[in-house]
Amino acid sequence: MKKILVTGGTGYIGSHTVVELLKNPDYSIDIIDNLSNSKEHVVDLIAEIAGKKPNFIKGDLLDFELLKSLFEKNDYDIIIHFAGLKAVGESVEKPLEYYENNIQSTINLLRLVRTDKPTDFIFSSSATVYGEQDSPKCVETMQTGTKLTNPYGRTKYFIEEILKDYANTNPNFCATILRYFNPVGAHPSGLLGEDPNGIPNNLMPVVMRTYTGEIPALNIFGDDYDTPDGTARRDYIHVVDLARGHIASLEHSKPGISIYNLGTGLPTSVKEIIAAFEEASGKKLNTNIAPRRSGDLPECWADPSKANAELGWHTELTIADAIRDTLNYLNKQ
Ligand code: NAD
Ligand code: UDP
Repeated sequence: MKKILVTGGTGYIGSHTVVELLKNPDYSIDIIDNLSNSKEHVVDLIAEIAGKKPNFIKGDLLDFELLKSLFEKNDYDIIIHFAGLKAVGESVEKPLEYYENNIQSTINLLRLVRTDKPTDFIFSSSATVYGEQDSPKCVETMQTGTKLTNPYGRTKYFIEEILKDYANTNPNFCATILRYFNPVGAHPSGLLGEDPNGIPNNLMPVVMRTYTGEIPALNIFGDDYDTPDGTARRDYIHVVDLARGHIASLEHSKPGISIYNLGTGLPTSVKEIIAAFEEASGKKLNTNIAPRRSGDLPECWADPSKANAELGWHTELTIADAIRDTLNYLNKQ
């Protein structure tokens, strides 16, 4: 039996990953989450899908004493670290909160990792660490950390560097940094999906709330980019494919630091996402052309060939699948 700690496991990506992890009868899972951006009820939904309930600890990773007692009671073989604050705009307003929450949480976990036996550690990083590059297709070998436009992105970059420094001190530390591109979609059961607290800023949640009428109109941030239709292009990956990327990473975990892009390798524009959603839902969305959003790149997508070759992982689901699953999730709410 392997003992796994999943931080942020009631969140969007964490919950989908726990469902995939529970398929392995040899995994015993503890989730720790402070519920700052998720709901405890998600644990029941995970159990409904997986037929098995993970243990849930409501707690904050900034509470070192709580974490310490958890590690004293449990000998974790694997730590999957999703927990973090992730709203780019909010990070500009509250930089100290972001630096403290995301970075200190990670340091607290690292202080408790054992050095006398192997620990697999997976960290949720982001394509944002690439910043602005000469090419929009991001490869793991590109230099990171330059021209980052917000504190959120910098927390991801700093944590990657902290993990590299820490790995030099612990030969039993098997860390995988996964750089996610743009996760979208929902679990095909319709039970799990993206349900952020507050006003969303990512494209798909805004599309969803425009569809339900909670947002009167979707602002398309810029239609004058040097792209085929003038709107910015990103690499949208189905959250279930992303979740499976974590399983593949665990199967190939090794000492030191391994870094992988998890994306499809295909760019899709804002207008293409809107058109695909309108076609699948049969409903026209209200949209406005708005100025470019500050800090946005025109284009950014993954070169996923390293994850394809080394992890044997490939995306299997399309944007159409993600939109179908999102609509199914919305209809079940
Ligand atoms: P999410 O907000 O749905 O999940 C994160 C979870 O962490 C939430 O349930 C929240 O309550 C919890 N959390 C935050 N701070 C905590 C703390 N101090 N202690 C305990 N729990 C805490 O976000 P998500 O979309 O599932 O993202 C998961 C991870 O992936 C994050 O680290 C995020 O930065 C990263 N990521 C997300 C995206 C994306 O677009 N969703 C893209 C790239 C990287
Ligand atoms: N976007 C948009 N309107 C919105 C939200 C996002 O036009 O209300 C655009 C945004 O400018 C970007 C793309 O959608 O070009 C993806 O944005 P998101 O915030 O989801 O991801 P990121 O910019 O972090 O890749």
